Amino acid sequence: MRSRTNSVQIILASILSLLLVLMLVLLGYKFLSNNQVADEPNEPVTQNPDSDTENPVTEDLVNEDEPVVVNEAKRAKILANGDLLIHPSLFADAYDVESDTFDFNHQYDDVRAFLQSGDLTIANYEGSISTEYELNGYPIFNAPPEMVDAVKNAGYDVVSLANNHILDSHGEGALSTKAFFNDAGIDTLGVITQESDRILVRDVNGIKVAMLAYTYGYNGMEQTVTDEFYYSTLTPIIEEDIKADIEAAKEISDVIIVFPHMGVEYMMEPTQEQVDLYHNMIEWGADIVFGNHPHVVQPSETVQRDGLNKLIVYSMGNFISNQRLETVDDIWTERGVVLEVNIVKEGDQPVEIESVLAHPTWVEKVIIEPEQYLFGARLANFRVVFAQDYLEDDLGMDANSLERIRATYYEVIDHLNITGFEGGQ
Ligand SMILES: [Zn+2]
Repeated sequence: MRSRTNSVQIILASILSLLLVLMLVLLGYKFLSNNQVADEPNEPVTQNPDSDTENPVTEDLVNEDEPVVVNEAKRAKILANGDLLIHPSLFADAYDVESDTFDFNHQYDDVRAFLQSGDLTIANYEGSISTEYELNGYPIFNAPPEMVDAVKNAGYDVVSLANNHILDSHGEGALSTKAFFNDAGIDTLGVITQESDRILVRDVNGIKVAMLAYTYGYNGMEQTVTDEFYYSTLTPIIEEDIKADIEAAKEISDVIIVFPHMGVEYMMEPTQEQVDLYHNMIEWGADIVFGNHPHVVQPSETVQRDGLNKLIVYSMGNFISNQRLETVDDIWTERGVVLEVNIVKEGDQPVEIESVLAHPTWVEKVIIEPEQYLFGARLANFRVVFAQDYLEDDLGMDANSLERIRATYYEVIDHLNITGFEGGQ
């Protein structure tokens, strides 16, 4: 009896020791993998959360310098839209007289869920945000900082500041605009305060996405900054710089998106300059070019490079603004589009664009009666809507608006003319 008890104890002790060793090994492995993650703060949650347990511990420890090959395809949904152009009517709509505060959130109520569904969601913010200057609209745009909260809540990850209005509150306004977005957790393009701003790389579901942005000019406001500031902090369109940046981006990323800001305002077609430069960008290594500045949607183009389809959208138009048929006599300024580009990376293969979808948008403006003015603007409620939501249902929209929304849907899709990709309507 005694010896049997002993052997049972020995077996139990052995099992316990084995378990202890196994636990230590697992803890060590966990510690190692945690450290790996900590070294890369931009690493998002991996698509394979179970890979920790699926990969044998020993193999991972032995092959430390050989990364574990995950054959599963990596995918990302990129959403991009045009101008957030904050006219006084928009901040009048956001203003609460009693509390003397701004809240822009309701303007994004109908688009927020979809914008948040993007793995990477990007817009062009056209204007400045500075508390040193008066709130203002055209020609010197300066919006309240609270606007940034609504942009953040709407799901945007990145905004481009490379446009002709970023110096509207001078150099310090460009810096404060960037700081307001960055402090809210939104990355910015077009204002460089550290080297990593020039080529912004974000890890999106394991795919390294590089983003670059440039503008044709600054409305003459470049006179208010030094040459040093102009060349080192801003990103004017200088072809050899763009080429060098794209080539550098190729070394550190899997896919490159460029946001050029140029063209002629309210022109429905790109200029030859746009066509030439945007084609060059693709030639130099860009995969997607999302243009802006004309305030109206311009067509897309599919360009082949290395046997793969690359995408140019010459202009994505306005996303939110007070420009519309009634204010600037151009119905195309109240229309915009969210481009949905789904990309895939399989193993060591180059990133491919799997599908491109256009989601036309329309800005609703409901004028408030009786007539009231704030910040010099007639009080009205604004809201961006997806035109596709109103094709089969009026969702309470009046007949005139409904007609404009439905025309927006068909005419924007038709004018964009996306071809060569799956899902292109
Ligand atoms: Zn512009």
